[in-house]
Amino acid sequence: MEIVADLHTHTIACGHAYSTLEEMVAGAKQNGIEIMATTDHGPCMPGANHPYYFGNLHVLPAVIEGVRVLKGVECNITDIHGSLDLPSKLLQRMEIVLAGFHPLTGYQGSSKKEHTQAMLNAIRNPLVDVIVHPGNPQFEIEIEQVVNAALENEVLLEINNSSFLLSRDGSREYCLEIALQAKKVGLQLLLNSDAHFSADVGRIEKARQLVKEVGLTAEDVLNTSLVAVKEFIAEKMALKQGLDI
Ligand SMILES: [Zn+2]
Ligand SMILES: [Zn+2]
Repeated sequence: MEIVADLHTHTIACGHAYSTLEEMVAGAKQNGIEIMATTDHGPCMPGANHPYYFGNLHVLPAVIEGVRVLKGVECNITDIHGSLDLPSKLLQRMEIVLAGFHPLTGYQGSSKKEHTQAMLNAIRNPLVDVIVHPGNPQFEIEIEQVVNAALENEVLLEINNSSFLLSRDGSREYCLEIALQAKKVGLQLLLNSDAHFSADVGRIEKARQLVKEVGLTAEDVLNTSLVAVKEFIAEKMALKQGLDI
């Protein structure tokens, strides 16, 4: 199973990553990635960008060095209502909006019930395309409910490769359960690198190993197909642009 798109990457602009956008693109090219989403952290994360950064993404070309670069953000879910840390008007213009929980970003939920509620509310937000690292045990959720809501709202759930490297300890068993549940209901997953350094763009070995272990094939993973990724982005963009915000 090979991926052709990596829809979760960071640049030096976010305050704790180490490569420029051009370096990330070079990494993508080197690792066989044809579509790369640049998704720096939303403003509530310490050291992250001001909303101006995201508002100005339109200065970037759609294709850089032959790689299609999607303009996006990784928003923080900041409360139980599923609020995000950029204005809706701005999110509406993004090509891809990821959302997830992160420590030190103001989110106060403290129980599985609250995390689930917050995540379900984010999933129901038509501006959200992907929920990132839902298998993070630090913010444990009711997996069945989240998978069902994702399917219903055409939101993708991510298996995040970096969760199995240095960050988010203990994610593996939850991610296995997410993969099994997704397979059961026919929800496609995304395997993303969450690269914070250029050489890591498109590197999803651990995530691939995990989904293989529970019997998932390329058809179960959206970003194994360029056509499927393009269709997903185009459909969601059309939906977002039709919203009266
Ligand atoms: Zn980060
Ligand atoms: Zn994240």
